[in-house]
Amino acid sequence: MSPRGIPIGRIFGISIDLDYSWFLIVGLMAWMLAASYYPAEFKGWSPGEYWLVGTATALMLFVSVLIHELAHSLMAKRFGLAVPRITLFLFGGVAQIAAEPPSAVAEFWIALVGPVTSLALAAVFWGIKPLLAAWQPGFALVEYLATLNVVLAVFNLIPGFPLDGGRVLRALVWRFTGSYLRATTSAALTGRFFGFVLIFLGVWQALSSNLIGGMWIAFIGWFLESAAGSQLQQETLKNLLGGHKVRDAMQRSFVQAPSQISLQDLVDQFILPSNVNYVILTTFDAPAGMATLAEIQAVPREEWATTPARAVMVPLEKLETTEPDAVLWSAFQKMGRDGVNELPVIEGNQIVGVLTREDVVHYLSLLQSLAA
Ligand SMILES: [Zn+2]
Repeated sequence: MSPRGIPIGRIFGISIDLDYSWFLIVGLMAWMLAASYYPAEFKGWSPGEYWLVGTATALMLFVSVLIHELAHSLMAKRFGLAVPRITLFLFGGVAQIAAEPPSAVAEFWIALVGPVTSLALAAVFWGIKPLLAAWQPGFALVEYLATLNVVLAVFNLIPGFPLDGGRVLRALVWRFTGSYLRATTSAALTGRFFGFVLIFLGVWQALSSNLIGGMWIAFIGWFLESAAGSQLQQETLKNLLGGHKVRDAMQRSFVQAPSQISLQDLVDQFILPSNVNYVILTTFDAPAGMATLAEIQAVPREEWATTPARAVMVPLEKLETTEPDAVLWSAFQKMGRDGVNELPVIEGNQIVGVLTREDVVHYLSLLQSLAA
């Protein structure tokens, strides 16, 4: 899952983005703290003070999360990994690190530095608490923030992927077994396990006394479980496809049509008779681009007879492409990332094949049945 949000600035060359869900959660938290938690714990503040401290707590929690993510990011950069952005969203923050950690040692330190930073922040808030003894709202604020940062550190140390503790676990298993696959699988399995535990705990809490808090815990558990589950699935796919090249799964024969024909002719003479979703278009017999159903459907049907195919095709230079010797897994990921269903396979100046998602899925099922 990679939330995308509104960029609000850059720190150390890393873009800081706010996801829309962030506004929702900060508003909800500020309201909950100002209207319920602080009035119950501390009597005699003015309404303005409850709201000021409630809002400040919610914002400072996210500043704490941001510092936690920055710690991960700076450590990742130290190990040579690019970190284009940090996104703050519903469940906190996520640093988008461009690649898998290069070694178990890198993974270990990149993961561990986050919770350690949160604990250090807790110590800082704890340390400045006596300075605010004369002003109770300030005192209450730093005390709450100290506790929140301890909770943040402890929660993130749960040894299940994708939490930091799960990454630490993966680094250790990776270091001691030498197998990245086995390490990822065990961390993802414990992630699913702890996800289920949280869902169970949350539902139990919700049913017994604490409806909102319990639902929230169950929701976090569900998020953890599904993230770990999809990691597990990805790892299985990656392992099956490992060592295979694009040329192994691509289609060598594909439908080509001259780019000057009308969309109507393209559909009637090429797409329907060949039962395909895409056509490579040529100009003077040289590949010029590709048209898929999506581009054709964007044109109103009554204009198909008068619109030339080249008017809607994506020209070759703008197409996402791959090469026959590219790693099949990477090409598959690229399709997912860019939201395309087919990649023309280019060798020299020639299109030598096309790789579609269906090809990869079919190839996977082939590999799976042969392995079984
Ligand atoms: Zn973390």
